[in-house]
Amino acid sequence: TLHPAIAPMRTTCPYCGVGCGVLASPDGRGGVTIAGDPVHPANKGRLCVKGAALGETLGHQGRLLAPQIGGQTASWDQALDLVATRFRDTIARHGPDSVGFYVSGQLLTEDYYVANKLMKGFIGSGNIDTNSRLCMASSVAGHRRAFGSDTVPGLYEDLELAEVVVLVGSNLAWCHPVLFQRLAAARAARGTRVVVVDPRRTASCDIADLHLALAPGADAALFNLLLAEIHARSLDCGENIDGVEVALAAARATDPAQTGLTRAELAQFFDLWLGSDKVVTVYSQGVNQSDSGADKVNAILNCHLATGRIGRPGMGPFSVTGQPNAMGGREVGGLANMLACHLEIENPAHRTAVQNFWNAPRMAERPGLKAMDMFRAVEDGRIKALWIICTNPAVTMPEADRVARAIAGCDFVVVSDMMAQTDTTRLAHVLLPATGWGEKDGTVTNSERRISRQRRFLPPAGQARDDWRILAEVGRRMGWRDAFDWQHPAEVFAEHAALSGVAGALGSDFDISDLAGIGVAEYDALQPFLWPQSAARCGGRFFGDGRFHTPNGRGRMVAVTPRAPQALDAAYPFRLNTGRVRDHWHTMTRTGLSPRLSRHLAEPFLEIHPADAARLDLAPASLAEVTSPHGRAILRVLVTDRVTPGHPFAPMHWTGETAPSGRVDALVPGRVDPVSGQPALKSAGVAIRSF
Ligand code: SF4
Repeated sequence: TLHPAIAPMRTTCPYCGVGCGVLASPDGRGGVTIAGDPVHPANKGRLCVKGAALGETLGHQGRLLAPQIGGQTASWDQALDLVATRFRDTIARHGPDSVGFYVSGQLLTEDYYVANKLMKGFIGSGNIDTNSRLCMASSVAGHRRAFGSDTVPGLYEDLELAEVVVLVGSNLAWCHPVLFQRLAAARAARGTRVVVVDPRRTASCDIADLHLALAPGADAALFNLLLAEIHARSLDCGENIDGVEVALAAARATDPAQTGLTRAELAQFFDLWLGSDKVVTVYSQGVNQSDSGADKVNAILNCHLATGRIGRPGMGPFSVTGQPNAMGGREVGGLANMLACHLEIENPAHRTAVQNFWNAPRMAERPGLKAMDMFRAVEDGRIKALWIICTNPAVTMPEADRVARAIAGCDFVVVSDMMAQTDTTRLAHVLLPATGWGEKDGTVTNSERRISRQRRFLPPAGQARDDWRILAEVGRRMGWRDAFDWQHPAEVFAEHAALSGVAGALGSDFDISDLAGIGVAEYDALQPFLWPQSAARCGGRFFGDGRFHTPNGRGRMVAVTPRAPQALDAAYPFRLNTGRVRDHWHTMTRTGLSPRLSRHLAEPFLEIHPADAARLDLAPASLAEVTSPHGRAILRVLVTDRVTPGHPFAPMHWTGETAPSGRVDALVPGRVDPVSGQPALKSAGVAIRSF
């Protein structure tokens, strides 16, 4: 479809949590020119290779262009009536907890808000969870324990103002490339010292002054040892902080041998971290995706709380999110254990306030099922109607084969997606075509709490509709006409902003109530801004003033006893690490369309240490069969000393049946962090042999 040439449209990249501003210019001949937005504060004109290739991933190839019921094309009315009827009947017969929504950190905030309102306020269940559970739930849990709220204290510019930046479990160079570029530029200009803490020698090590290849899962032990050292050097301030003594006692009990690092390496790390007040500790999936992820987060936060290095220029802990709108999902309450606007689902006053605001008939009274538990409930029939929106859990969930079988056995499955053929769309009874990037309007929040617009510059593909409109239409057909009667995403945004004012009055950090009266024109012109944005507070950092969001206003250190990852079974003697590559995004439904993005790494592969490869008789570029009790993948062998013996690595993006086939998450056990519910995607016991 040709679309008219227009002036560059200011929008936001749909991939990682950096949230770069993009200028998109349809050329009138079917193409779209992409450039970095020079005035967007996140990227100041920069783009990484994925963002720069966005123009190559548009078009209708592989798109779902019309609703389908049972594999046959249907009208929107038929499909929406069927979805509303089946959900309404299931709830009537089995109760509100017999249904679930599994949504996505790639939804826009407006989509997310409507999904959460429908499930938590009108269906009356907490059973909405998101693939962000796989991404940063441990950070949310850690923030709430330490700060009393899920608040990212700092800003991107802190990486540029710091004298020392520590990257923990974060391959920033590949997973948040523009933020890495900003750090590299600051390092070149100011001599910033960079430490990488990661069992793998990743591309981020290219600018590192120190790489600590610690034992897998030993992050909490490392930061406990740092906390003990802080105390030993009498550097702790501990003002307005609770839990200092218990956290210190746990820290002092930590055995340095757990880290697998030498005394000299530890001493070097302590000297760097303690050598300057201006330290930023950036952490990501290597910390979060663990069965003790929340404790690892708190071990990091403890060190910043103990030294007062938080919420001030150039210092603080910094969780970088994997997805473009993981933060927006947190803001609207898209996780099963949260309520809208950072209110708490367990708090009766918070529930009542949201119920009154929504004029909702039946509020969820308790947290719903988190992602892994939700698919277990699908498997055993407790959930009988499931709506999967903008995500592909048949590939990306741990024990992905089992999850795919569970979805296939569910009584009624609805999938909303841009793409016609994914591992998950194949399992749907009803398929609903959704608009994609460039076709929809809304907002996203990046890792530094900056809300930016995504803007429409293309017509919808076929009959595709915006996710918020689809959800609202189902809500209306289920009988709640007035509550879901918006005509424009600006109205959804304005309602969310108004609700945030209610939340702000209850003490929530998330308050954008200045924007409660926003109209369509103002929404269209909305410039990127940091939250909060209210009469009481605008933007900036949190906690630098020593005031936290706990009931007594004090920060909380948490006693952390480091736990080693689960012991390996002799039959599965390798601990497989999983993660991203530089040029692909998730299951490659979009980035796979760009030939240049596929040139970087064209096949699913297994990074394996030369000693392991020799022992298994695996030649470079041969195929290896990797198995676990849960699944199997066939991967191209890449022999490299970037990984350590016994700890191979495989990327998460590929699927498919023919070799090499990269269903890597099928290998991963469904073990989760007991606090956050986040799965341990970095640690799968596997066997490897030549294929
Ligand atoms: Fe997009 Fe992230 Fe790359 Fe920026 S760094 S262009 S947000 S993928």
